[in-house]
Amino acid sequence: MKFYPTVGLEVHVELKTKSKMFCSCPVGEWEEPNTAVCPVCMGHPGTLPVPNRGAVVFAVALGLSLDGEISRVSQFYRKNYFYPDLPKGYQITQYSVPIIRNANLLGVRIERINLEEETAKSLHMEDGSVLLDFNRAGIPLLEIVSAPDIRDPEEARRYLVALQAVVRFLGISDAHMEKGQMRVDVNVSVSPDPDRLGTKVEIKNLNSFKAVADAIRYEIKRQSEVLSSGGEIRHETRMWNGKSTEPMRVKETESDYRYFPEPDIPPLHVDDSVLEEAKGMLVEMPWEKEERYREEGVPSHLASVLAYDRDLSEAYERIKDVDPKLTADLLLNVVLGKLNKAGKSLRDFDLSGFREFVKAFKEGKFLRDYLKEGIERHIGGGQPFSEIIENAPKVEKVDIRPFVEELIRNNPKEVEKYCKGQRGVIGFFVGQVMRKYRGKVDPREVRRVVEELLDNA
Ligand SMILES: [Zn+2]
Repeated sequence: MKFYPTVGLEVHVELKTKSKMFCSCPVGEWEEPNTAVCPVCMGHPGTLPVPNRGAVVFAVALGLSLDGEISRVSQFYRKNYFYPDLPKGYQITQYSVPIIRNANLLGVRIERINLEEETAKSLHMEDGSVLLDFNRAGIPLLEIVSAPDIRDPEEARRYLVALQAVVRFLGISDAHMEKGQMRVDVNVSVSPDPDRLGTKVEIKNLNSFKAVADAIRYEIKRQSEVLSSGGEIRHETRMWNGKSTEPMRVKETESDYRYFPEPDIPPLHVDDSVLEEAKGMLVEMPWEKEERYREEGVPSHLASVLAYDRDLSEAYERIKDVDPKLTADLLLNVVLGKLNKAGKSLRDFDLSGFREFVKAFKEGKFLRDYLKEGIERHIGGGQPFSEIIENAPKVEKVDIRPFVEELIRNNPKEVEKYCKGQRGVIGFFVGQVMRKYRGKVDPREVRRVVEELLDNA
């Protein structure tokens, strides 16, 4: 029996505004728990929440970037549920009219983006007790809800990589999944009928792209097997334990949350000044970057990786004027691997030094073989690039002309082919020269000499 899987994603992204969503406590990373708090974000009764204009601007900037409709008037609601990390007993979120509707990312429809508040962070202790850190409570949060348009784990991964790139390029969130700044809930269903959705199962709080892909893959298989053997899928929430999903609780229905308009906050207006400020934040989107990188000469498979990574694309932009294709190739195929191996990141890497290094190569100061070695000396050995350039083995002045002339004399048939326009023949001559002078000559220089002498033959 064939089953058609359908996946929808609900992504939470913490905004890096200066202050929290409804109070003036600062947003940041704090070592000491419960220091960036006040009665509002601690959920004390009788406090008055006031929406943060900066968070509204950030939400609108994301909406505009994803071709969404901006609601000029929206409303905050109370979503009632009691958890230890939410002592006031409700979360302020949006419901009937979210701030953004009908957006779109890589062809996946985004039904709504809600502006809401983060809960406190629970720390589960070894003795079974739970400690709460309210530094996180009240940080502005965007809830980005996709339509069930995704068909497989790889498509889900591409969507998430793109979403992470967009919020990072806009500068509205660092979206580090390992820090919980971006979290993903997945809705998966399978159906024997491609025109009808099956019963959906929600998998909560996935914190890496790999976990998302693995959980989707597992859940599609599990549900298909249940249905194949005549069973039924329960509408429930499950959790991912790294190997499989297991039941957590039967899914709440909307009525369980008893939504009602937040009586302490008037309707939220996106006025022209907010809209203008959001427009001022707009930047080139990763898919636009990808297109431009291709036009600049970066091969497609490299452009699609480079354009979606903030640090890599910044590095590329700083060096590309030396040679775009070579820069992209070295960054992705050499630098990144060596950094990973050394447990370092691009931020530990001397980009201006690297720029000079690539430039020195382009100026013919050393041969291609030394590129990899130089990068290794910098990353593995901590040697500065200035020293690496200085110590580069000098390119020997080998005069290859007599040998090329000899080759041309001895291979009249190949020369004839060349004269008839078969330029591929150049490769034959270059190959011979490279075999003879391996490591001592620059292939581009060899090619130039071969071409010149063939033209004169
Ligand atoms: Zn506060």
